[in-house]
Amino acid sequence: MRLVLVGPPGAGKGTQAQFIASHLSIPKISTGDIFRANVSGGTPLGKLAKEYMDRGDLVPDEVTVAMVRDRLSEDDAQEGFLLDGFPRNVPQAEVLKKMLAEFGTALDLVLELVVDDDEVVRRLAGRRTCRSCGKVWHVLFDPPAEPGVCDACGGELFQRDDDREETIRHRLEVYQEQTAPLVAFYADEGILVGVDATGPVEEVTQRAMAVLRRFAD
Ligand SMILES: [Zn+2]
Repeated sequence: MRLVLVGPPGAGKGTQAQFIASHLSIPKISTGDIFRANVSGGTPLGKLAKEYMDRGDLVPDEVTVAMVRDRLSEDDAQEGFLLDGFPRNVPQAEVLKKMLAEFGTALDLVLELVVDDDEVVRRLAGRRTCRSCGKVWHVLFDPPAEPGVCDACGGELFQRDDDREETIRHRLEVYQEQTAPLVAFYADEGILVGVDATGPVEEVTQRAMAVLRRFAD
């Protein structure tokens, strides 16, 4: 099965991508993973990508497309895949469609994780990261025994810039601006399905798998 997973930051997309891909025995192909490899490797492409990601903006198409094409050409992606983080906009979706047509195939389904902005802010703005060991806590969902102190190592907890409400709202705006037309594109293609991404991770996975089973029947 050839799938694309879309959803706003904070919808648990990375986690869902992993679970769904493993249920279906297909590789999860995440632009996030490819970006991180480039960034930590300090490649020119990685440095460029990092400038955009640090601002909460999206990486330019030509950078992303080159990486995705290589990845989709690999052996393990020939029987199916789940794309996470690509395509992000209509031009990328057009490129992907053409790319897959060259490979003699096409997407089966696009799953959209649906969750409202305030829920995303509640999830992300509550995160606190330990300065010493890097462990992430949540003031509501996973609070340390003593506020501001890491249970694991006694280190000081702080809020990463990425987790500040204004950064999150900016990322959601960027997401909306770029993704709404993408979602409309796939709706026109007749392969878009929405999955309610509110609530516990396992429930969301079950909803997504129910949709995929319906499609497979
Ligand atoms: Zn710690």
